[in-house]
Amino acid sequence: MLTATNYMKPATFNCTVLRDGHQSLAATRMSTEQMLEIAPILDTMGFSALETWGGASIDSGLRFLGEHPFDRLDTLKKLAPKTPHMMLLRGQNLVGYTHYADDVVEAFVKLSVKHGMNIFRIFDCLNDPQNMRTSIKAAKEAGGQAHGTICYTTSPVHNLEYFANLAKEIADMGADAIVIKDMAGLIPPAETAALTEAIKKATNLPVWIHTHETAGLGAATYVAGINAGADAVDVSIAPFANGTGQPDCMRMLALMNGYERCPQLEDEADFKKKLSTISAMLQPVYDSLSRFTSHANEVVNSDTLRYQVPGGMLSNFRSQLKEMNMTDKFEEVFAEIPVVRKALGWIPLVTPTSQIVGVQAMMNVKFGRWKNITPQCADVALGYYGRTPAPVDPELQAMCAKKMGKEPITCRPADLIKPGMQDLRDKLAAKGMPVTDENCVIYAMFPQQLEDYYAGKRPEPPTTPKPENFGAPVSLSTVGVAAAISGRNMKLNIMGREYDVTIEEK
Ligand code: MN
Repeated sequence: MLTATNYMKPATFNCTVLRDGHQSLAATRMSTEQMLEIAPILDTMGFSALETWGGASIDSGLRFLGEHPFDRLDTLKKLAPKTPHMMLLRGQNLVGYTHYADDVVEAFVKLSVKHGMNIFRIFDCLNDPQNMRTSIKAAKEAGGQAHGTICYTTSPVHNLEYFANLAKEIADMGADAIVIKDMAGLIPPAETAALTEAIKKATNLPVWIHTHETAGLGAATYVAGINAGADAVDVSIAPFANGTGQPDCMRMLALMNGYERCPQLEDEADFKKKLSTISAMLQPVYDSLSRFTSHANEVVNSDTLRYQVPGGMLSNFRSQLKEMNMTDKFEEVFAEIPVVRKALGWIPLVTPTSQIVGVQAMMNVKFGRWKNITPQCADVALGYYGRTPAPVDPELQAMCAKKMGKEPITCRPADLIKPGMQDLRDKLAAKGMPVTDENCVIYAMFPQQLEDYYAGKRPEPPTTPKPENFGAPVSLSTVGVAAAISGRNMKLNIMGREYDVTIEEK
């Protein structure tokens, strides 16, 4: 409990509504345009950080909204220049799904700082500090803050001692703070308190907590964490809060009321008024994204506690099992997840390992255990993702080595990747795209999407509100064309681009 005097400073809130809020509740589909009005208000509210970039927002913005990732950062920084901006970075994977060369990682981090990023939340899907080293160093060198981020998971090896040692190792790399990242919303309040204290004791660094309200534990977790000395917690703003998102700020404020370390606000009445204003402004945005929202994500669901997997993985699973005609095998597949995790050295379930473990569990059930091993699963087993929390099952490792025709490695995987920036420049030039460092780092992760962007194949971002004066869409979607006709006017949607057409009688 709270005893030491150095814990007496009030805690602070970070606001995630511009990133994880809509990533968790609306498939990361909020467009920059939909953020324009609220960003300046958020900037006046005294949050310790605004999460505005990173995670899936870069992939999703480019792929589905036709936005250049650095344009979003520039715009939001301009609209909210006062509060530190924060992003989630998957260590050596940046915001992509595989390891990139050190020079690409360094360039990405440096450019992010140049465009206004302040706080880098750096994690690795295996909790392997080797995969965090380059980006932590790059963030510090570029003048940003490096927050070493620990993925919380449950397993026989993930105890307080393991997490405290991990925090110490990350702190020794120069991290400015340690973040407990509970991507699945699984951490119980008492354990949050114990973990917070253990990490503070091991590192003497600020501890920030990130969780989700998926199973209904999130807000209680924050109260326990703050009372144990945590320095900041992540909240969001309804309707992009609660459920699979972060606990909402208004509720957290009420829950912390009366506690010594309740966040101190300059003017609480004004703060609450702004929260209400933003909520009201976000409601039509939420409604405009109804294709990507679901009631199941808005409510507390204890399945995630039962299966100990992230909420996103649960919903992905349900649809994948349906596609594979395996809905009757749901329980069997879930029973297989701990088997796969154990064989792979108890890896956490977070992007991209949640997908790797999930798919392998399905394959094991469908074809028999380890009869069909995906290349990604084999790469984890062979060390190509990094050091696993516990040793990989030697039998599985031997099987994977034979199947893939390559030997297991124990070095840092990125040590095997040669520098990439020059090659990326050459590729951009050959494709006739603007050769900038910004484009190099984006092209490294999302080549096809960046090509589409410059080829003008940009999807129309969602706008609020939708025009009502057009008739029902005439679906020609098989050829990528959709049309809505009203009188002589027609709206045509071809490959995601919208056109207004006036029909003339001949
Ligand atoms: Mn999250």
